[in-house]
Parts: sequence; C-alpha cells; structure tokens
Amino acid sequence: MSIQYNKEHPLPTPPMIWENMGFWEGTKEHRLVFQRCKECGTWVHPPRPACPKCRSFEKEWAPSGGKGTVYSWATYSESPHPAFVAPYSVVLVEMDEGVRLISNLIDTKPEGISIGMPVEVVFDDIADDLTLPKFRKVG
Ligand SMILES: [Zn+2]
Repeated sequence: MSIQYNKEHPLPTPPMIWENMGFWEGTKEHRLVFQRCKECGTWVHPPRPACPKCRSFEKEWAPSGGKGTVYSWATYSESPHPAFVAPYSVVLVEMDEGVRLISNLIDTKPEGISIGMPVEVVFDDIADDLTLPKFRKVG
C-alpha cells in the first residue's frame, strides 16, 4: 500500500525556510541528511538554530544511513485533507542516528505494521521541486 494523492487538489507542502533547506535539498538528490552539531556530534532533527545539548550554533548537514525502526504509527481511515486518499499510514521513525522523522510507510498494509519494525528510507518525487522521504519495511 502506498499513499495515493488526489491530483484535483493541490498538495500541502512543507514550509521551506533557511533552517531546513539542507534537508530538502538532500531529499531532492535522494539523500537523507540531518543536522549534526560540529561541537559535540549530537544529531539534530527537526532542524533548529542551536544544538539542544550544548547550545552551539555550529552545525553541518551529515548523511544518514537511512535506516531506523517504527517508534509509533497511525492509519488514517478518513483523510484530513482532500489531497490525501485514505486509508494511509503515518509513521514516526526512530532513525539509527537517534532522531525521529514523521513520514509515510509504503508497501505495507496497516495490519503488517508494528512498533520496532525495521524500515529504510525511499524517496518519492511528488513534484518537480519536492521529494519526500518515505519508508518501507526491511526484510
Ligand atoms: Zn552540540
């Protein structure tokens, strides 16, 4: 099962601001990157100006291994937006780097999803200028 879009309605898109542009530029190139503090090495997501551990403003965009586990999930049986066709599943993935990312799980029916399930990133080019990171079950 993959999320379907109703193309008669414009898709809501994430806000693109200077703090998260590195993330979205990475996904456009089918690379998953997160901020990493250059002072203490803490991975940071969602992107923010200061490191939550040491308060440093010195960060870099570092590549993620693209793997994690399902921390939590929900299946929408009714769509909260006309562009999204229900049912579809939203997952909170805990990446191996320790940060968490909200996304969609593709190719798995809701009854096949479980907490702790290993997943890996895939990339969905939903528009010319927007690629979303999504996840699929590993194994
Ligand atoms: Zn830090």
